[in-house]
Amino acid sequence: MGKYDPIIIETGVLIVGHGLAGLAAAHAVRDADPNAFVLAVDKASLGYGGKANKGGGHISFIPPGNEETFVEYHVKNNGEYLNDQDTIRRYAHATVSTMDRWETWGAAFTGRDIAFNAHPTIPWKVCMVDGDILLKMAKKAEARGIQFMDKIDVVDLLVQDGCVVGATAFSVLDGTPYLFKSKAVIMANGNQNWGIMKMWSSGRGEGLATAYRAGAKMRNAEFGSFVNIVSLDHGHVSYEAENFMYNAVGEKVDPNTPQIEGATFVNACGGVDIGGAIGMVMYSHVMQGKGPIYENHAENDFPFNPFGQIIFPMHGEAPPEWYRPFTHKFAHRIYDKNKETAYSKNAETDLKEIEPGVVGECSPMVADEYMQSNIPGLYSAGDISANGTSLAGAVPTPPGRVRGFAMLHAVYTSLTAGTAAVSYIKDLPLTDADEAQIDQRFAEMFAPLDRMEGTTTDEIETRVRSLMQYVPYTNFKSEERLNEAMEEVEKLKADVRKVVAADAHGLAKAHACRAMVLSAEMFFRGSLERKETRGWHIREDYPQRDDQNMLKWIYFEQGSDGSMVMGADRIPMEGYRYQPEGWETKE
Ligand SMILES: Cc1cc2nc3c(=O)[nH]c(=O)nc-3n(C[C@H](O)[C@H](O)[C@H](O)COP(=O)(O)OP(=O)(O)OC[C@H]3O[C@@H](n4cnc5c(N)ncnc54)[C@H](O)[C@@H]3O)c2cc1C
Repeated sequence: MGKYDPIIIETGVLIVGHGLAGLAAAHAVRDADPNAFVLAVDKASLGYGGKANKGGGHISFIPPGNEETFVEYHVKNNGEYLNDQDTIRRYAHATVSTMDRWETWGAAFTGRDIAFNAHPTIPWKVCMVDGDILLKMAKKAEARGIQFMDKIDVVDLLVQDGCVVGATAFSVLDGTPYLFKSKAVIMANGNQNWGIMKMWSSGRGEGLATAYRAGAKMRNAEFGSFVNIVSLDHGHVSYEAENFMYNAVGEKVDPNTPQIEGATFVNACGGVDIGGAIGMVMYSHVMQGKGPIYENHAENDFPFNPFGQIIFPMHGEAPPEWYRPFTHKFAHRIYDKNKETAYSKNAETDLKEIEPGVVGECSPMVADEYMQSNIPGLYSAGDISANGTSLAGAVPTPPGRVRGFAMLHAVYTSLTAGTAAVSYIKDLPLTDADEAQIDQRFAEMFAPLDRMEGTTTDEIETRVRSLMQYVPYTNFKSEERLNEAMEEVEKLKADVRKVVAADAHGLAKAHACRAMVLSAEMFFRGSLERKETRGWHIREDYPQRDDQNMLKWIYFEQGSDGSMVMGADRIPMEGYRYQPEGWETKE
């Protein structure tokens, strides 16, 4: 085939990414049609890629009979009326049945029968899975004859007559080009975390960029700045530090009280979990010359208390009914490392320096009720479209401010996408993409390798991280600062076109860089367009929520000339059960 002579592989459903969502989607396809050809490819290794094996493993579900209470609370308090209320309701009614199905795919829940309440008023319950969940699901999938390929980086989709018909990819080991011909594609390759926080570093949004370049619609990118608290000593999240923060002059730093004059905000989910204004509050103390900010490590007993030992056992051992061997080891490794090496640097004080750490979770790929995109044959599952479905509204998603919502949501959307993709491919022949398109995609894919001079991937990554980590750009926004950020984005757009790769591994980084810049552009453009404060989107210059003008989902598409086209879809509020007061009144 032309200059590139790729290895050609045919399948019915191609799944891009075999982390949690990819594995679940593969099982769902198998359930829907035991004879369907399904192939899941990933740039990492089966059972080890993605996020599910690095996290807390909390699984939140809604006990039967409590679904509507959950929907009402979420819409009013977390999503702030930006939710697609039909979608969140469907999800609320499906959590228990999704867990049942997931068990048949290898999930073993710890504490399902003794799940605890995760919220003082709202009925959602938390149980756990262990950190080897992907290995268990993979083993079961292989036993069912599901095909997997590792170390394959999917870069572009092939679209023929308006439908997705395959993808172009390369081996991250040796650069071998691959051409996948498929009847449907499920994008399950995660969202954008901008490579700032260590444990989220696999989320580089390549799937978003792949889908966008093929014509897929994106929305709600402006909410993709989940800010957590990170320890400067060990570089990981410091759990519950938000309740024990002090500034350099010994004053308590209250996450609910910004010190900046005129700033108004809703600390969405604050008090129950980390809130949307945490970065802004820390920043406001620093701007008064009272920085840095510390966590009083002696006051925060999370690592030692029984609750902490269940949630993330950094120290000691969870009670037998909550004991998870894989997570136990993982968390202990981190804790021991912290204690022995990191905290010993300043052992004489309990005050440990902390800073806001941008996790991100920009996840804007649009998906309908069946997890289908606007392009026939293209579906999504898991983190990639967590905000694009609009299920959770004005909060970074996952977790949509429901701790433990992410994994179950990934499995739910995978079940939906896998089932829908099987119906779509029924009686559908394989279609070839035209040669010119294939050649062009391969040429673009290998361009960073062909270049001898240009920008390095390290430079692009560092610049994007600096941009996204800067609280006044991403957590406390204003038109002036967002325009400043956009100036840097425009420069990055020019520079990333010249990015150079030395080998196949560098090529993967080059494509991740392209995706990081694209996500940053959507984030800042969306943030500029949303002239209000809602949920985790906090604008200094528009401190109020604007229900008359801003009940809309801001979207992005690639225009025919390659530029970013923006628009807004009105929220069909009149058809929804919960409506903000006065939303209809237009002056
Ligand atoms: C530290 C941490 C704690 C967490 N705690 C919890 C928790 O307690 N409860 C909870 O519910 N959720 C938690 N989560 C979130 C949860 O783990 C994720 O929502 C979920 O695992 C997402 O699954 P996914 O398959 O959609 O995406 P990912 O896990 O990101 O998987 C995407 C896969 O796609 C692959 N990929 C990416 N790009 C390409 C490409 N171009 N070509 C081929 N393959 C590609 C990646 O290698 C990866 O394997 C946590 C996450 C982290 C990081």
